[in-house]
Parts: sequence; C-alpha cells; structure tokens
Amino acid sequence: MSMKLKIGCHLSFSQGYVDMANTAIEINANTFAFFTRNPRGGSAKAIKREDVDSFLEMAERHDFAKLVAHSPYTLNACSADPSIRDFAIRTMSEDLERMEYTPNNYYNFHPGSHVKQGVEIGIDFICQMLNTVLKANQTTIVLLETMSGKGSEVGRTFEELKQIIDRVELNKKLGVCFDTCHVWDAGYDIVNNLDGVLEEFDKIIGIDRLKAIHLNDSKNPCSAHKDRHELIGMGHIGNDAIIRIINHPKLRDLPFILETPNNLDGYAKEIKFLRNNYNE
Ligand code: FE
Ligand code: FE
Ligand code: ZN
Repeated sequence: MSMKLKIGCHLSFSQGYVDMANTAIEINANTFAFFTRNPRGGSAKAIKREDVDSFLEMAERHDFAKLVAHSPYTLNACSADPSIRDFAIRTMSEDLERMEYTPNNYYNFHPGSHVKQGVEIGIDFICQMLNTVLKANQTTIVLLETMSGKGSEVGRTFEELKQIIDRVELNKKLGVCFDTCHVWDAGYDIVNNLDGVLEEFDKIIGIDRLKAIHLNDSKNPCSAHKDRHELIGMGHIGNDAIIRIINHPKLRDLPFILETPNNLDGYAKEIKFLRNNYNE
C-alpha cells in the first residue's frame, strides 16, 4: 500500500481541524476536503487557535499534502441577482481570510451558473468577484473547478476557464481543480484519450495551473452534461482509467480528493484500493 499517493475525501468541519485530521488518519488519507461552511451557505463555524495549532503540528508529523477546501454550493458569482453576487463576494473573501489560519492550501469553487445571461456576462461577473477578493499577500491558491456543463454552468470547457484566468489581475493566485466526473460529463474522453485531454489542457490553460484532482467515477457516459458521481470502478469511467489517472506522470503528484457517494468505511476501501494500485 503506497503512502506516496496523496489521497483523501470530503470530511465534515463540524468539530474542527484536529477532528478531520484524526478521521483522515483513521482511513489512511493524507489530505482531505471540507466545506468552509454549510454547503448551502450561511455563517461559518468559529476557528479556534488551539485547534489550528494542534492540526498544523499533526499535518506536519503525518506528512499531509495540501488541503483542498471547497466553497459552499450556493456561491454563484455570476447570478443575475445582485444580492446573490454580493453574497458570493462576501463569502469568498471571508473564507479566504479563514484559510490563512492554515497557510498554503487550496480553496476550490464552482465558477457559477450564468442562467440565461450568456457565458460572456457570466465570465465578467466571475472575474469581477476574483478581482475583488484576491489579495496579493494571501498564501491560499484559489482553484476553479472544471464543470460538467449541466444547465448554464460556466467552466465546462478549458477555454472558458482560461478566459477567466486571463482577466484576473492576481492570477498568480489561481489554479484549476480537475474533476474527473465533470470533465468526462463535459465531453473530454479521459478513458480512451487521457494523454490527449491533458495535452489540450496544457495547450489551452497550461499544465502548471493544474493543482488538484476530484477523483470520481460517473453514472453517465462521456458528454452527458449531467454531473452525477459514482463509486470508483462502478461507473462509466471504470477502474482501468482511474488507475491510469492516479499514475499519470502529469497527475501522480497532485492531491486526489474522492467525492464518491460513500460513507467513511466506503472511502477507506477506495483509498486502500487506490494505494494498492499506485506505482511507487
Ligand atoms: Fe465541487
Ligand atoms: Fe468536484
Ligand atoms: Zn460534481
């Protein structure tokens, strides 16, 4: 079982960082994701200094990889409703302040849904938000998540993500989180042509921007634009492709986060399976 693979899953923030780290260690994870607040938004739990200090020590001792925090689903920077856009700006800037308690990690968000306004206007609003909330002195890298393209989601193509990155002044602070279920549903054939998809990513965005992977199987075929995650090996992506993904020279050193429909025991089994199939 290779501990060199950086892998974890989504954990609940409710009891704080030390609790998440203990859970991660129990299931043989060495990174994790968590929602910075209730996925539906609302106010965030207080951060306690002692909890953070003990966690930082644990993370060091257990050689944790970078964490991949996730913004709430309700965050929509490109809503047509100005009060929802304003909520997105306030939430992200507060989340980024909180992220500095645990420096040098990742904060992932969904670019948003433009809902009939068109992708150009959607991208304008997303860039306005990022140009407001990013700070030159932050240590957190903000990740744009690749989306499946259901409804009017922005970020369904590498080109859309590139347009956002190009128009953000502090884009040194931006990266991309590659969700395997989403890119597959968006129409990128990572099963039969992983090399080609990564070459396209490199040509359009630049492979250096790729910072984390959401590792999921998909309940639907390529190009379905659905976004329904499946257990590893049980969907249309399948074990062979997943194993090629975790071992690919351009991906193998990144943190992998499972977002499969699972309980903790199921995550432990997936982590074990993936570690056993990771080439040292
Ligand atoms: Fe996500
Ligand atoms: Fe995801
Ligand atoms: Zn998803």
